[in-house]
Amino acid sequence: MLAAGSAPKHSDRPSKRVGGRVARSTYTSLDELTARLIECERCPRLVAWRQQVADEKRAAFRSEEYWGRPVPGFGDPQARLLVIGLAPAAHGGNRTGRIFTGDRSGDLLFSALHSAGFSNQPTSVSRADGLRLKGAYVVAAVRCAPPQNKPLTVEIVECEAWLVEEISLLPQVRSVLALGSLAFARTLEVAARLGWSSKKPRARFAHGAVVDLRPTGPTVVASYHPSQQNTFTGRLTPAMFDEVVSTARYFALPA
Ligand code: SF4
Repeated sequence: MLAAGSAPKHSDRPSKRVGGRVARSTYTSLDELTARLIECERCPRLVAWRQQVADEKRAAFRSEEYWGRPVPGFGDPQARLLVIGLAPAAHGGNRTGRIFTGDRSGDLLFSALHSAGFSNQPTSVSRADGLRLKGAYVVAAVRCAPPQNKPLTVEIVECEAWLVEEISLLPQVRSVLALGSLAFARTLEVAARLGWSSKKPRARFAHGAVVDLRPTGPTVVASYHPSQQNTFTGRLTPAMFDEVVSTARYFALPA
């Protein structure tokens, strides 16, 4: 067994073939993985930052108790659509404890997922808001909020083990929507580790780009990140985002 807070190692792990691809999970369930993940302290800079933010708080959330820990994935264990973001926002996921919850990025994401039929409501404000996903699962490449929303390369690599583990426990995934260039790059990195591809696929990031890893893996769809900066500048409009979610839905749920 892993020591509490230890990121999983991938050597010596039993392999099994799930849904046409190799899965290598140390854990038997998402609940078991989550219990380990939320104790992880492998990145000293991020551990210090997530706690500092939780202690200091933003004035508007002064009365709330911040989560201040790694943020696990959220959604349907039988998901066919996997959404991969960058990292929790300091006053979003790091506050609420649920990814893309309580921030502007989440407003756009869950509105689009609702329009596409993947959620029971278009808003995501707290872990107790009643949101349910059906056929979709949302996760971040890095589980702890980073300063300036910019994780270091060493932190991205360190957290990759959790991403591989969690995806390995989602055997029905057929489509991946990667939010932003970093999430897109990490998705292609883990593709080889998950047996989705015999070698690392090479593809340049572009909004709407599609990388087909079938038959061993899913189809990967790239999108600009639904960040406040991208939406305020008009780089990403709600219509553009709805369209790319629709594309990802097409590959997740083919007619
Ligand atoms: Fe652990 Fe990932 Fe957080 Fe680093 S970013 S402390 S590996 S959960």
